[in-house]
Amino acid sequence: MTWFDTCYRKLFFDFHTHSTAEQVAARFDAERWAEALASVGAQAVSSFAKCGHGWKYYRKGRAGYLHPKLPSGLDMLEDTIAACHRRGIRVIAYYHTFNSEPVAQLHPGWVEEDASGQKRGHSICHHSRVAEEEWLPQAEEIARHYAIDGIFFDGTYAASVCYCPACRAACGLESPPAPKAPPGPAMSTGRRPTTAACGSASAKRCAGATPRR
Ligand SMILES: [Zn+2]
Repeated sequence: MTWFDTCYRKLFFDFHTHSTAEQVAARFDAERWAEALASVGAQAVSSFAKCGHGWKYYRKGRAGYLHPKLPSGLDMLEDTIAACHRRGIRVIAYYHTFNSEPVAQLHPGWVEEDASGQKRGHSICHHSRVAEEEWLPQAEEIARHYAIDGIFFDGTYAASVCYCPACRAACGLESPPAPKAPPGPAMSTGRRPTTAACGSASAKRCAGATPRR
């Protein structure tokens, strides 16, 4: 049994901030935040390492992409951990996987496609090289540099069926079905082995990178 199994007052906060947002974390005060959490008896809280637009809110390590509007010098993850740990509150780093503005810009070929070949915003396909080149190195760095108590990977599921060349190749389909046809079973299940393998690889690399505390 781990601390997670016996910790019942965990709070989860969900925020995802597009690059065009203004005044991002402009008035963030980790001490006030942790004090508010302590006042309601929180035992653990999520803290954003990487959001659903692909931006990170911490500064250590080389992987990942800092939110362009984050105030100079601010490391939200580090400050949150310090303030929460002083009050006995555990911190779980939040890590979103498939949506990423910067990765979609850098690797347009990794973006998901619908059945008609249209790109889906900045939703990155799990069958691209995103896990090996982005997620795993970044998760490992977070575990190495920050005294987190856990890491939560969000978006480890197939949000929708992807018809990109990598998915078609992985599922053995040469051409996508007609747009109105329901997804074939091969396309629907094609991601599962990738997602499961990625989860297990993430756990292994994070555990290996976590300093003994
Ligand atoms: Zn795909």
